[in-house]
Amino acid sequence: MKNEELWQAALGEIELSISKANFITWFKNTSIISNEDGRVVIGVPNGFAKEWLENKYNTYIYRALRNFQDNIKEISCVIYSPEQNAQTEKSASEPTSSPVQQARRENMGHETVANPASLNENVQQSFNYGQESNINPRYTFENFIVGENNELARAACYAVSQNLGRIYNPLFIYGGVGLGKTHLLQSIGNEILKKDRNKRIKYITSERFANELIDSIRNQTINDFKASYQKIDLLIIDDIQFLAGKEKTQNEFFHIFNALYQINKQIVLSSDRPPKAIATLEERLRSRFEGGMIADVSKPDLETRTAILKAKLAEKSFYLEEDAIKFIAEHVKSNIRELEGSLNRIIAACEFNKKAPTLELVQQALSELISSGKKKGIQHNHIIEAVSQLFGIDKKDLINKGRKKEISRARQIAMYLMRKELNASYPGIGDLFGGRDHTTALHAYEKISRELETDEKLKEDIAILKEKIYII
Ligand code: ADP
Ligand code: MG
Repeated sequence: MKNEELWQAALGEIELSISKANFITWFKNTSIISNEDGRVVIGVPNGFAKEWLENKYNTYIYRALRNFQDNIKEISCVIYSPEQNAQTEKSASEPTSSPVQQARRENMGHETVANPASLNENVQQSFNYGQESNINPRYTFENFIVGENNELARAACYAVSQNLGRIYNPLFIYGGVGLGKTHLLQSIGNEILKKDRNKRIKYITSERFANELIDSIRNQTINDFKASYQKIDLLIIDDIQFLAGKEKTQNEFFHIFNALYQINKQIVLSSDRPPKAIATLEERLRSRFEGGMIADVSKPDLETRTAILKAKLAEKSFYLEEDAIKFIAEHVKSNIRELEGSLNRIIAACEFNKKAPTLELVQQALSELISSGKKKGIQHNHIIEAVSQLFGIDKKDLINKGRKKEISRARQIAMYLMRKELNASYPGIGDLFGGRDHTTALHAYEKISRELETDEKLKEDIAILKEKIYII
């Protein structure tokens, strides 16, 4: 068998045994350079691929090749590809460690990873650069826990931070809510600003992008708007799924995207699903997204959940016994935002009751959460129904027009509950209430949260509503 045939055959095998995203990422543009007496040298496009193939996919490659040639002894990789990659590799092997080494190190050392003092230092920094770039210093690679569920996405983000505009462009990260997409995206920004404060970075959610665009059209400043994007080194657009169906916005975004892409400026995008699954995403945008690198984040396994809990505990300087940690990790499975929420709940319960955090207290504090509606199929209409019943307001009025004070108050409470109990997105809530703007939902949520701190009657109403929605 010729080298090329052998490699194609082996790739066919490998493709079946790893995820598509991984396959495309690490095996794209690879080839067999030489094969002498079963010593196979694989040419790969960059240092990251070399490391992943040698360390992580070594056995897959070995097994696959063996199917077709039984004297395979040794596999090694060399960086082999035209001019541009030589440059990429140079910066990839700068003193900073590779994503894999770093991920491993973090994975081993994460119990001590969080250092509250350094976090404070970071908060200070936010005043220097947080405003313009929208990068939150809280989200860094250092405090991001690596597990099987996110290692590919993490490595890709890290690689991008070390090779801005030169490696995976665009980088597209997708996955469900609360699984660390925003954290990773922001980490890229922080990593770059750490080295070069002058880099021009812009983090923006797609909704905000759409709103700013519309404003600029209204104010006839669209040219300034576009020009401001031309100057950016790294453009991060979070939650791109909200561009679905907004044709005008997509069109402008496409032009901005292209302009940046053509001058090798880095673009990083996130979404709750892969580009293919975003309905009404313009074809040319979709194919642009798919032309870069796509990596997913999925739900963390038990081990990763435990590691994350420990890191968050250290961050908060709070101590929990192993059995309590185990209980939380075993019961709070859906995402990391919920894990954090559970911890906050436990800490609050301890402070409130002035009790030590025993397993019993943890169980109690989480009992409501664990058996809560989200998992029991509670839906938006249950909330609408409950609110309408309690306040004696017609459901239609609640959703649509009614501007009377009591009605808008009840509506705000319903919006608050949707956010709180169902973790619904603000634009989603806005849509449910007759296509209102997401800022209305955000405002409602914040207002009710604030008032809950002092308003006893409201507290009671919310408690009743929470009961109600689970029995409707
Ligand atoms: P998403 O954008 O996917 O909805 P976020 O990035 O907002 O999720 O993550 C939700 C919360 O969980 C954030 O506070 C984030 O810091 C935290 N988080 C997510 N993944 C990790 C991780 N692997 N290690 C540490 N914290 C994480
Ligand atoms: Mg997010």
